[in-house]
Amino acid sequence: MYLQRTIRKRVTVNGIGLHTGQPASLSFRPAPPDSGIHVVRTDLPGSPSIPVRAENIQATSLATTLGGKAFSVSTVEHCLSALAAYRIDNLFIELDGPEIPIGDGSARVFMEALLLAGFAEQEEPRRYLYVTEPVFFGDGDKHAYVVPYSGLRVTCTIDFQHAAIGRSRMDLDINETSFNREIAPARTFGFLKDVEAMRLRGLARGGSLENAIVLGDEGILNPEGLRFPDEFVRHKVLDALGDLVTLGRPLLGHLVLFKAGHDVMSKLVKKILASPDRTKSIELGGDFATPVATTIAGLTRS
Ligand SMILES: [Zn+2]
Repeated sequence: MYLQRTIRKRVTVNGIGLHTGQPASLSFRPAPPDSGIHVVRTDLPGSPSIPVRAENIQATSLATTLGGKAFSVSTVEHCLSALAAYRIDNLFIELDGPEIPIGDGSARVFMEALLLAGFAEQEEPRRYLYVTEPVFFGDGDKHAYVVPYSGLRVTCTIDFQHAAIGRSRMDLDINETSFNREIAPARTFGFLKDVEAMRLRGLARGGSLENAIVLGDEGILNPEGLRFPDEFVRHKVLDALGDLVTLGRPLLGHLVLFKAGHDVMSKLVKKILASPDRTKSIELGGDFATPVATTIAGLTRS
């Protein structure tokens, strides 16, 4: 039986917010079984919280913002992506302000914090959202869909009119090892002209070459260059994994993305949640050693 998972102990990540440029502190705290993932604003009276669910997505331009009546939190996706890869079911994400620390623009800082905290299995079985029929969302030339698969796999294609990026594709089975090695270090990226426009609007005040790849007309401005030749598409996989957490349950399926950003991802997530005839809630195992594929093959035959 695959059981639900939280972390062993509280752990803190300090940094600055990408847009505010102000110090930002985040703590991961263990949560009881069946509670899900919640964002808590410890700086506000009564420490209000909201569940990380699709219905609480407020904005998807530039980054994913979650919010309720009392507050909102932006740039959540890099933190959530690490939670998806490590299959964390129950957790409190405590924040002392409106933004999550940006770290180095990748998921590394969150990955390291989770590994430091350690993982704890809980008594309740994990309930996966297993996709039994394809679910599709398209918007112009951008689209995203998910098809049945006995695990979690992402195929992502990006196509940018910039010589340093161009068209790039990645196809990967997601597990802790592949995430740590292939995805977590991939940084967010932006174009110098957009950064300048954002600064005029009071955004990206914390953004720098320390926490993003910045592209000018001539190429990459970061003196250290890229961490992977295809770091851009890897970061898009990272973002998509983060947005998947708003499903509220771990997904079993093959996610295929074409030029899909946060907006397309959040709409696909909402469509999956609105298609109960195309998904099934399942528990895996009975025997912890049973391979996922065998369990699901048995399940789909019946
Ligand atoms: Zn991102």
